Amino acid sequence: MASRVVLLGVLFGVLIPVDMVPVKNSTGVHEGKLRLKRKYSDELMDRDEMTAMDQILEVNSRLRVPTGLPFREGDIAYSYVRSAINCPGNACLWPKSIDGFVYVPYILSPVYDDMDRITIETGMQEISSGTCIKFIPRTHEASFLDIQPRYGCWSFLGQTGGSQTLSLQTPGCMWSGIAAHEFMHALGFVHEQSRSDRDHYVTIVWKNILPEQIHNFRKQATNNLNSPYDYSSVMHYGRYAFSEEGGPTIIPKPDPYIPIGQRDGPSTLDLHKINLLYSCDANE
Ligand SMILES: [Zn+2]
Repeated sequence: MASRVVLLGVLFGVLIPVDMVPVKNSTGVHEGKLRLKRKYSDELMDRDEMTAMDQILEVNSRLRVPTGLPFREGDIAYSYVRSAINCPGNACLWPKSIDGFVYVPYILSPVYDDMDRITIETGMQEISSGTCIKFIPRTHEASFLDIQPRYGCWSFLGQTGGSQTLSLQTPGCMWSGIAAHEFMHALGFVHEQSRSDRDHYVTIVWKNILPEQIHNFRKQATNNLNSPYDYSSVMHYGRYAFSEEGGPTIIPKPDPYIPIGQRDGPSTLDLHKINLLYSCDANE
């Protein structure tokens, strides 16, 4: 079993395109209107248009074992915590310090090289620069993120207590926007199109979804924080996520051509929602 996983990792390393270098932030992601109907493989070839989630799903799909991915929604690891963003008593949130900051201790695997570390820390800074979240190297804290290059890009939802693994495989997950995406899961956010109010903003094209992946499109009982639906959230699936034959699985409405998802990093609204969830502007 272990050897098979290693083999997959080696295979992945061979297949990884040469243009995937660390600290990659693309610009001009969405120019013009996307065609609604095209081959998913074409979409994947066009890396400048891939969202963080497209990239994550591509990496994680290579890990597929006969029973399917052991994740919910493609990259959220199962835990006893359910909808973290709406958990009772906010027990799944990272605690706020009396100085107003929310410290998220972490340890980084020594396997990462310098460029990996810069990429991951850039993802942290993209969140911390616009919020009260501060990622700090762990010293003694009981609860912390254990960031490791396991197989795939994934995280638990919210703070689970104790050591919690957050996987950023290298090189597949080495984009600051992907790191930020997984950190937002660890902060308690589900994917944007899983919001309880998503049906007002997108149409899920059920017939185009791989039958065994339909569960990835369930709505969650989220706390939407009175914030607008955000098509440009780094937490939004791409238009063709889990497509069976290349047709779109998510179509925005009323304008079907609105771009959805991106991989540059947290959107302005993503940061706004973090500030709301963690009451960053409130003095306690
Ligand atoms: Zn995700």
